[in-house]
Amino acid sequence: MFGFSKTEVLVVGAGPVGLMTAVQLVARGIAARIIDREARTNVHSYALALHPDTLGMLDDIGLAGEVMQRAILLRKVGFYEGNTERALVEYDRLEARHPYLAVVPQSELERILEHHLSSHGVMVEWQHDLVELDATSPDEVVVVLHHTGDVPQGYPILKPQRMVIGRRKIRAKYVVGADGFHSTVRSQMHIDYPAVGPARHFSLYEFRTEQDLGAEVRVVDHAGRFSVLWPLPDGRCRWGFAITAPADHQPDLAGLRRLASERAPWFQGFPMSIDWSACVRFDARLAASFGTGRVWLAGDAAHLTGPIGAQSMNIGFREGHDLAARMFEILRNNVPAEIMAAYGNDRLAEWKVLLDPATCRPTPEASPWVREHAPRLLECLPASKAHLTGLLSQLGLEWAPA
Ligand SMILES: Cc1cc2nc3c(=O)[nH]c(=O)nc-3n(C[C@H](O)[C@H](O)[C@H](O)COP(=O)(O)OP(=O)(O)OC[C@H]3O[C@@H](n4cnc5c(N)ncnc54)[C@H](O)[C@@H]3O)c2cc1C
Repeated sequence: MFGFSKTEVLVVGAGPVGLMTAVQLVARGIAARIIDREARTNVHSYALALHPDTLGMLDDIGLAGEVMQRAILLRKVGFYEGNTERALVEYDRLEARHPYLAVVPQSELERILEHHLSSHGVMVEWQHDLVELDATSPDEVVVVLHHTGDVPQGYPILKPQRMVIGRRKIRAKYVVGADGFHSTVRSQMHIDYPAVGPARHFSLYEFRTEQDLGAEVRVVDHAGRFSVLWPLPDGRCRWGFAITAPADHQPDLAGLRRLASERAPWFQGFPMSIDWSACVRFDARLAASFGTGRVWLAGDAAHLTGPIGAQSMNIGFREGHDLAARMFEILRNNVPAEIMAAYGNDRLAEWKVLLDPATCRPTPEASPWVREHAPRLLECLPASKAHLTGLLSQLGLEWAPA
């Protein structure tokens, strides 16, 4: 049975980027709905670092204080090889309203954004899976959703099984696909999502540590691969070790000890037990387009990169902000809809630069170590736009002419 309803903007996906996009729309008085196929927000702390730019955005909507209460602030990124510090960038040297990184679990950030939405009367419509999208009309997009629920099934013991319990249609002026790597919006729009670089695998370990890690992210160079140590709130930390293949992942304390001893002899803060561990694959991908007409992509639905710079999520936030600002101009100020095409072109251009290792080059001030690793340093810097340029210049790197 179909139920029909309307909205100005439908955001598909209530991950961090979808939630931020909905918050930005609501802040501009645009009628927005947000759906997600899952039952609730993340319980894990996947992406965790908020760039200075993101903190400025959160400030503008009055959420920076609440986020920073739950975060720890990091002020530098150090690059190490064994016990030797090879390079350092400092956020204090940037011209920024918030010259630091805020590290907060993804689940906490999502909870704050979801609560902000609900206080403005927008509830995330969980367990609503977008299955069809029709963008052929010049005036609206029509989507079909499956409402799912856990229905007891089986005999003689009943077990909950996820089933479709309703079908809904929504007519929207615009649709934002913030539905992640496997984006249905992207596939319904027949937009390719090619690999633009090799996939990398990381062994992640999160745990409590007694070692004082300071206010620093540590990037560790070992045999041509970068690993990363993030201090987290409440005396916890996360190691992400680059590994060759998933089979190399050893999810226990012995695996952590082996990798840390080999690559970071200075690390002594081993725990009694690990909170969680996972082998995660990070692709380098860029969508052939960010959308067209009334359907646009943001976040992991359109781009993927390595985890160290936390660029995919943070730049995804800026994309959500940009989309909301443009949609406001069209829907409220009668600005011609062509400004959406500029969104697609600008975002594609930005990501082509970010995902191309040849786009930054050493200046005469660069150290031999920076020269050698220049192509891989860009994606390891947690920043974007002017702040990224500032961090690159601290390393003695600059953008190569296009
Ligand atoms: C274990 C792990 C560790 C990570 N660590 C890091 C890290 O250290 N640094 C970093 O930068 N990044 C990290 N990431 C990646 C990071 O989590 C993503 O970049 C970020 O979540 C992207 O946000 P997003 O909102 O674009 O997409 P997602 O978080 O993927 O959210 C997409 C949402 O869309 C929903 N959805 C999908 N299809 C549909 C549909 N058809 N209908 C309705 N809803 C739909 C999904 O349920 C999901 O909630 C990690 C990821 C994982 C899994």
